[in-house]
Amino acid sequence: MKTLYLHKGKDESLKRYHPWVFSGAVHHMEGNPQEGDLVRVVNNEGSFIAVGHWQIGSIAVRVLSFEDRPIDHDFWVEKLQSAYNVRKLIGVMEGGNDTYRLVHGEGDNLPGLVVDMYGKTAVMQAHSVGMHVDRMKIAEALKEVMGEKLENIYYKSETTLPFKADLGQENGFIIHNSQFTIHNNPPSDVDNIAVENGLKFHIDWLKGQKTGFFVDQRDNRSLVEHYSNGRKVLNMFCYTGGFSVYALRGGAQLVHSVDSSQKAVDLVNANVELNFPGDARHKAFAEDAFKFLDSVPNYELQVTKEQANKTPNSELGTPNFYDLVILDPPAFAKHRDAVRHAIKGYTKLNARAMEKMPQGSILFTFSCSQAISKDQFRMAVFTAATLAKKKVRILHQLHQPADHPINIYHPEGEYLKGLVVYVE
Ligand code: SAH
Repeated sequence: MKTLYLHKGKDESLKRYHPWVFSGAVHHMEGNPQEGDLVRVVNNEGSFIAVGHWQIGSIAVRVLSFEDRPIDHDFWVEKLQSAYNVRKLIGVMEGGNDTYRLVHGEGDNLPGLVVDMYGKTAVMQAHSVGMHVDRMKIAEALKEVMGEKLENIYYKSETTLPFKADLGQENGFIIHNSQFTIHNNPPSDVDNIAVENGLKFHIDWLKGQKTGFFVDQRDNRSLVEHYSNGRKVLNMFCYTGGFSVYALRGGAQLVHSVDSSQKAVDLVNANVELNFPGDARHKAFAEDAFKFLDSVPNYELQVTKEQANKTPNSELGTPNFYDLVILDPPAFAKHRDAVRHAIKGYTKLNARAMEKMPQGSILFTFSCSQAISKDQFRMAVFTAATLAKKKVRILHQLHQPADHPINIYHPEGEYLKGLVVYVE
């Protein structure tokens, strides 16, 4: 195996099991590794530190093992079995739920690999060249571990791999009906309806974001359901409408879903239809979030004019103000250097929403930016509350669910944070 030597003293974080080697720590390499190759990482004296996938970029190696062992079929089986055992322990595939994350990268000691399960179909995504190179070995091991619980594997890495690596990869099924295959389009006989807590969702393997669905909001959607009874719900950045469908089941008076993408609006309408055919409580709008919020009158302004109940927001068909709002925008900061700008974005969005919310409202607000910390996000919501001149109490502090585990040595893995606040 090829060898990568570290600079003296640059093995400190690896001794604490942090699973990345940054390019600045690399002294030199032996054996001319190609992108995606397995390399042995050694310290400046040549002692073994770790083994992992090498890649061009600021993260030079993603560590697969801190033990000096072969990365072979048994390795993949062991890691995938361990990931599956944890999901069993959590009980995530019980109670009318067949949608869950089976492998969460570093959180499952498999940096660069994501696998989401939708019924008997696994959607597998490589975020590193090494995982792409090893995809068939992983598929074989996954088939072995899952047995009859897995019939199909759809490989979906077109947009997650570095463009420069020029791997020519295409999305497509690599296992179909339990057989290895080279289909590039989903065969029509594959069931593409996922069931989450008894609710059904169309999964768009082909063009959907991430693996087709945002599996990570499952528990938070249940909490929305809990608070929805009798409320007027606004689901901003709705995408597939997960929160909207739960709110309808929770007994919401009305649910409005907003997304700037018409495709998302079509998807939310289809998902509502799948669960609550013909339900007139729901309406979806293809509109920019800020523009939409601008069209909702400020609650205080209306109240002072004593128009709160008399002024229907007729253009939107909204008979009143929204008293349960969900803000789940895309990551505003994809990189560290975008953090300041992103914090401003979260502040503005939350302030705008709070201004519109009557007394006694509930706001679910999220950030999925890995680069924004829990404290930074909370500070943004704090600033938003002062700008909107609202008294606000935090009811819940939310995070990613247990099937998105966080490796304690890799705190960067904690990406999803949310607050549920009560707006007075
Ligand atoms: N809440 C969703 C996931 C949101 S993903 C769920 O639970 O599944 C973010 C969504 O925001 C995408 O669908 C994207 O189309 C939409 N979006 C991005 N920018 C937007 C904007 N300025 N206004 C409204 N929607 C936007």
